[in-house]
Amino acid sequence: MLQDKVALVTGAAMGIGAGIADLFADSGATVYLLDLDGPKAEERAAAIRARGGKAGAFACDVSKRETVAAAVDGIARRHGRIDILINNAGIYPRRVFMEMTEQEWDQMQDINLKSIFHTCQLVLPHMIPQRSGKIVNISSVTFFMGPQKLAHYVAAKGGVIGFTRVLSREMGEHNIHVNCITPGAIKTEGEIVHANPADIEDIMQRQCLHRRLFPLDIAQVCLFLSTPMSDGMTGQNLNVDGGLIMY
Ligand code: NAD
Repeated sequence: MLQDKVALVTGAAMGIGAGIADLFADSGATVYLLDLDGPKAEERAAAIRARGGKAGAFACDVSKRETVAAAVDGIARRHGRIDILINNAGIYPRRVFMEMTEQEWDQMQDINLKSIFHTCQLVLPHMIPQRSGKIVNISSVTFFMGPQKLAHYVAAKGGVIGFTRVLSREMGEHNIHVNCITPGAIKTEGEIVHANPADIEDIMQRQCLHRRLFPLDIAQVCLFLSTPMSDGMTGQNLNVDGGLIMY
């Protein structure tokens, strides 16, 4: 499905990003895993190559433009094209608003929102001359729910949805599709660290589908948004939460 496509996935050393990288490589793409944890990203890329896929890795902090630029330049020099950008990297530490420091607020915005400013501005100059491109931004169902202790996170994830809408309008004339996914509770390394098991059990009961969701559940929708199957869609959000909320 993604034969001859070059894809870049941020935050791909583990969790949802790793699931996306695996599925995209299994679907024929050459996948680049960008992650703060360079060695772990390289381990995942090596595992893809070991089973016959095409993958590479870059140590990259998405909040630092120069490290994103180095990765994008390296990929573009090697392949002369970039077809797919998945903006997935993110953090989600909890903190009640009145105890939140300015530094915590800023770090959240830099990693979960401003990073997309960097990646899109650096990748789009390669997509625009191609007159094709697929960008998928990973937001969160929390934007629709507003759970406590996540003011900085929900603000950033709402920003991701707003940004998706504007960029899709500006990029339509270049035949570049920009869409968004709001995952629900997905079983990942990060979620295990940050979420309370009782809360997860409660969410599962409130979902229409009473089962845990996994990175593959998000990766499959991401694949749809990265192939011609979704060529009629842009500026949209797809909510993938097992039927937790409906809007
Ligand atoms: P995770 O913590 O399991 O993995 C995140 C990855 O991003 C890690 O490999 C980490 O090293 C990397 N990363 C963190 N900061 C980075 C930075 N500055 N630069 C580059 N890489 C960085 O997280 P996850 O659960 O897989 O979440 C992935 C995305 O999905 C995030 O944007 C998150 O907000 C979103 N999301 C997750 C859930 C969930 O339930 N897991 C729900 C909704 C949205």
